[in-house]
Amino acid sequence: PTPFSTVHRSFTEQAERQPDKVLFELPDGRGITYRETAQTVRRIAARLIADGVSPGDRVAMQVEKSPEAIALYLATLQVGGVFLPLNTAYTGAEMDYFIGDARPRVLVCSPERRAEHERRAGEELVVETLGVDGDGSLLDTDARHEDVVDAGPDDPAAILYTSGTTGRSKGAVLTHGNLASNCRALLDAWRFTGEDRLIHALPIFHVHGLFVAVNMTLAAGASLYYLPKFDAEAITDLLPRATVLMGVPTFYTRLLTVDRLGPETCASMRLFVSGSAPLLASDHEAFEARTGHAILERYGMTETGMNTTNPYEGGPRKPGTVGKPLPGIEIRVVDAETGETLPDGEVGSIEVRGPNVFAGYWRMPEKTAAEFRADGFFITGDLGRVDEDGYLRIVGRGKDLVISGGFNVYPKEIEELLDAHPKVLESAVIGVPHPDFGETVVAVVVPLAGQEPEEKELLDFVADDLARFKHPRAVRVVEALPRNVMGKVQKAELRSRYQDLFLGTDG
Ligand code: ATP
Ligand code: MG
Repeated sequence: PTPFSTVHRSFTEQAERQPDKVLFELPDGRGITYRETAQTVRRIAARLIADGVSPGDRVAMQVEKSPEAIALYLATLQVGGVFLPLNTAYTGAEMDYFIGDARPRVLVCSPERRAEHERRAGEELVVETLGVDGDGSLLDTDARHEDVVDAGPDDPAAILYTSGTTGRSKGAVLTHGNLASNCRALLDAWRFTGEDRLIHALPIFHVHGLFVAVNMTLAAGASLYYLPKFDAEAITDLLPRATVLMGVPTFYTRLLTVDRLGPETCASMRLFVSGSAPLLASDHEAFEARTGHAILERYGMTETGMNTTNPYEGGPRKPGTVGKPLPGIEIRVVDAETGETLPDGEVGSIEVRGPNVFAGYWRMPEKTAAEFRADGFFITGDLGRVDEDGYLRIVGRGKDLVISGGFNVYPKEIEELLDAHPKVLESAVIGVPHPDFGETVVAVVVPLAGQEPEEKELLDFVADDLARFKHPRAVRVVEALPRNVMGKVQKAELRSRYQDLFLGTDG
């Protein structure tokens, strides 16, 4: 096996090997090289040391995307710190929770939020600022810190909070070994090299944008087209110069609305990746018909990095599946109650074991113990089945499963049928309390522009393909589904919106 090397060590090597190579290309055309980035890393590292950061200390970051924010990530690792990126949307009360939970030594915020965060500063916490243009107190130093703490594979590198789709976000402690092994597996699986030019339009406080896209780029010595946020027009302009796009499903839904997207705009592209939420099979097919590229869908999570991927080559990319486990990673589908492995084709709880699996939830020993089996498998909370070709299909989340009159209903099956209706753009199926059945099925539907589907025509459309207990008992037509920044549908919010639907006075 390859000797262990941390992600920040790989970056330093690339910066020595090709100092003049552009790492970040910004929307205004400016290019920031590997050398410049390495210098910024040493400056920030000096500042962190001056702020009293020692190995194991957390360094929290709540800032907009900038090249310096990535330098802060690398500087934190360089001094042996634990990086803690936080969603920029978090408000004061949410920040109280995260800061109270993680107890960082340093909090780096945007200059605009300095006043708000200042009150948190004290003996134990230093507040620094970093603006989008790389200004702020964090870079206010002439010192350079050259030493690199050589972390081992089991040392913590980051605490990453989960997206909070199913409840309060949990801090997943990820080790240097987790990051490095997942990075290597993906470089190999997707044939990622220093020649690649990746379009980066994802947030950097999430596993996808940071530990997949950025780590791979740094380790390979590649370049990023670094966009502040998703913008379908800007991305279409970049496609003719890029090779890889890493996106979430909503990226593809929105790219498909750009008329000029076609084979010519995608001529230099070699890979389109989707993950973080299920990709509509119809988008997969429409995108391939338009551009000639089959989107590669993969499956991962904060706690594990990437688990599975459709093949880059040597096999079909199957719409509706997330492919097969990456090398070194074991996936099994088990009966949630007994823990016994199920035969292929049967739906059960997805569990994963491998060097990618996190060390545990931060300060939640009981929760951590409850999510691991005795043999080391992590219980993902997702439900799925393995198809006849060995590809994994995610059926939904355990928490979204509807149990109606004692029968299991998997929302995705009904969503796929509804999505095929000519007047429907997308749908979300949830379970709500029902006096007779415990729970019953409700469909929330977003119509295509200009369409006004009737409840009855939608129900009739799906009825023939579904057993009676799976029939939605109500359909609600809405303008948009509630989504978080990663494009995940917030089903918990929909459930609370409709929880009283069948519990009214007549119920
Ligand atoms: P929380 O754990 O706080 O409820 P979350 O699970 O959404 O939030 P993440 O770690 O960001 O937080 O997301 C991981 C989850 O995203 C997976 O467990 C899975 O449910 C979903 N997911 C990721 N990739 C895919 C995919 N390709 N298809 C379907 N679902 C996916
Ligand atoms: Mg989760």
